[in-house]
Amino acid sequence: MPLRSDWSDAGCVIARAADVLADPWVLVTLRELFSGRHRFDELRDATGAADSVLSRRLRTMTEAGLVERHDSGGYWLTATGERTLPILHAYAGFTRAVEPPNDGGLRISCTRCGVEAVSADWCPACVAPLDAESTTWMRPSMGAPFRVAVGSTR
Ligand SMILES: [Zn+2]
Repeated sequence: MPLRSDWSDAGCVIARAADVLADPWVLVTLRELFSGRHRFDELRDATGAADSVLSRRLRTMTEAGLVERHDSGGYWLTATGERTLPILHAYAGFTRAVEPPNDGGLRISCTRCGVEAVSADWCPACVAPLDAESTTWMRPSMGAPFRVAVGSTR
C-alpha cells in the first residue's frame, strides 16, 4: 500500500482539513498573521522558516483560500482563514492541559469582557464567540495584549 500524502479528497472532514492545516509551518504562519505580521520578511523572521519553506506554505495557504497576497506584497487572512482561529486556540488549550502549569505562552481572552478563555471558541463569561472580532491575545514575546488581526478588507 503506497504512503498517502494527499488527504484533500478524503471522505472524512477532519482529514480534509488536516490536508492543509496539519503542518506546523502552516500553524505558526497563521499565528503570526493573527498577530498582525503580514510581510514575507516579518513572517519568515517570526516563524524561523527558511524562505523556500515559507514560500511553499504561503502558496499552499493561498490555494486553499486561507490567505491572499495583496499588491503591497503582504499576506492577509481571508474570511476562510479567520475561521482557523479556534483551531489555534484548541492547540493552545491542548498544550496547557497536558503540560505542567506555567505562566508562559499565549494567553487568550475576550475583548468584550476581558475574561480569559478556557474554550477554543466561546467566552465563558459573556458567551461571545472568540472570533477575530472579539479576541485578545497576550504573547509574552510581543509585550502588551493585542486584538488579533483580521483581514484588511474589513
Ligand atoms: Zn466575554
